[in-house]
Amino acid sequence: MDDGLNESKLRDSGFDWEEFLLNYLKHVYLITGGDFFEINQLSSLFLSKNNNDIEPYSMDGLSQYLDQAFDDAIESVKNNHGGPFGAVIVRDGKILGRGVNKVISENDPTAHAEVMAIRNACKNIGHFDLTGATIFTTCEPCPMCLSAIYWANIQEVYYCSTRKDAENIGFRDNHIYEELNLPVEERKIHFVKIGNPKSEALFRLWLDKVDKVSY
Ligand SMILES: [Zn+2]
Repeated sequence: MDDGLNESKLRDSGFDWEEFLLNYLKHVYLITGGDFFEINQLSSLFLSKNNNDIEPYSMDGLSQYLDQAFDDAIESVKNNHGGPFGAVIVRDGKILGRGVNKVISENDPTAHAEVMAIRNACKNIGHFDLTGATIFTTCEPCPMCLSAIYWANIQEVYYCSTRKDAENIGFRDNHIYEELNLPVEERKIHFVKIGNPKSEALFRLWLDKVDKVSY
């Protein structure tokens, strides 16, 4: 395609390219007698860009991404990278990044599958914002990964095993969730608030920084 005709230019011109494409797809279906389900799936993917009411993933798509996460996790366990967890991040039907638990091989307690997938996706797209992306993970995220998902602006999580399932094989996800529900003074980790004169100056530095990148 000529680089003078791209998606953003079409959108800016006011041309209803989505309607055009949907009509085109219907036309292709009528001519080819192709598989309607597949065409309908593709239409949904395009519609989902502007319509949150429409489910962008078919069950086939769901199992495809989850299968990938499971395959990665199985391979990772066999290679002694870490616990049995894998995650895949998808946006607009495209895999942006994948991750497996690498706590053991990286000597990194934060190297959970979801965090690794977020790091991989952000590196691949060259940006820290994953707005519009979905994460498929073999197990319900722990509080750390859930926080990372919030920070990355991921809006959807599809998961298979639960935090209780993880607890049953020796992982502390559920325990940490329970800790978060306790008042700070009742948690197992000791929290002490202390004052420092640099505290206000540090935040002031950020507040007054004219070239800061907000996130
Ligand atoms: Zn985690």
